[in-house]
Amino acid sequence: MTVTNKPTRAAWLQGPSGRCETVPNGQFLPWRIVLLGAPGVGKGTQADLLNQRLLACHLSTGDVFRAAATRSEGELSPAMKEALGYMRRGELVPDTTVWDLVQERGACLHCAGGFILDGFPRTAAQAVSLKQFLNKDGLGLTAVVTYELPQSEIVARLGGRRTCEKCKAVYHITERSPKVEGRCDHCEGALFQREDDRPEAIKVRLEAYDRSTAPLIEFYRKAGLLLPVSAAGTPEEIYERTVPELEVRRLTQFAEQMWAAAENRRSGL
Ligand code: AMP
Repeated sequence: MTVTNKPTRAAWLQGPSGRCETVPNGQFLPWRIVLLGAPGVGKGTQADLLNQRLLACHLSTGDVFRAAATRSEGELSPAMKEALGYMRRGELVPDTTVWDLVQERGACLHCAGGFILDGFPRTAAQAVSLKQFLNKDGLGLTAVVTYELPQSEIVARLGGRRTCEKCKAVYHITERSPKVEGRCDHCEGALFQREDDRPEAIKVRLEAYDRSTAPLIEFYRKAGLLLPVSAAGTPEEIYERTVPELEVRRLTQFAEQMWAAAENRRSGL
């Protein structure tokens, strides 16, 4: 399965100054999805595959930080410089900085094409901010997918991961190797190992996930939004497992909304 025609996501990656070349057509029920799972379970790859199928943009906070890291020091705000320091050490960026950055990109969360959030929210405080922000405008999440995988497998996956410096396509040195070593199949860009995929950073990131992000699973379970999916196997297998579950979730939500609207009409509300 190849990922093509990826939207530029300019409004997300560049913030308020960025203009998307194409905006997805408004959908009757836009997909508003959050992807959870420890670093290395393949959330980014799944987000790209889901984007192809559901058309909602893949919004990754990690991508925003990595895009900022390619700019010159002079172009970066003090908050962004500080954030990049956290990222390089594999630590979580403070909630206030992350929320400022997401809020600046609030238009993406209102986009008629919906969204697939990857890497955000990552703490209970971020989840509460997101909920309040969406609730204000009567928007709700369709589902929160949590990808599950044993830790030993996660470490092997992350250590072998390579990313294209130009189009950000993701490869793995053994499981998803490019046709030409060190070069991207799509754009021939050079492949590199992300700073936060190095062994020292991997350990810190997994600890940060357990400490800060795992409690989110409970938060979304209680909200009735959680959709656990096994992240074992190939990206295509994981994807094929995810989509039918999402479709069922959306249909159920739709039926519930129709039912509530009918009830309100009956009771004259
Ligand atoms: P990711 O690509 O999602 O693994 O993110 C890469 C790095 O960016 C993380 O290790 C953090 O340093 C930072 N980061 C991305 N998203 C968040 C977030 N929601 N909260 C805190 N830090 C984040």
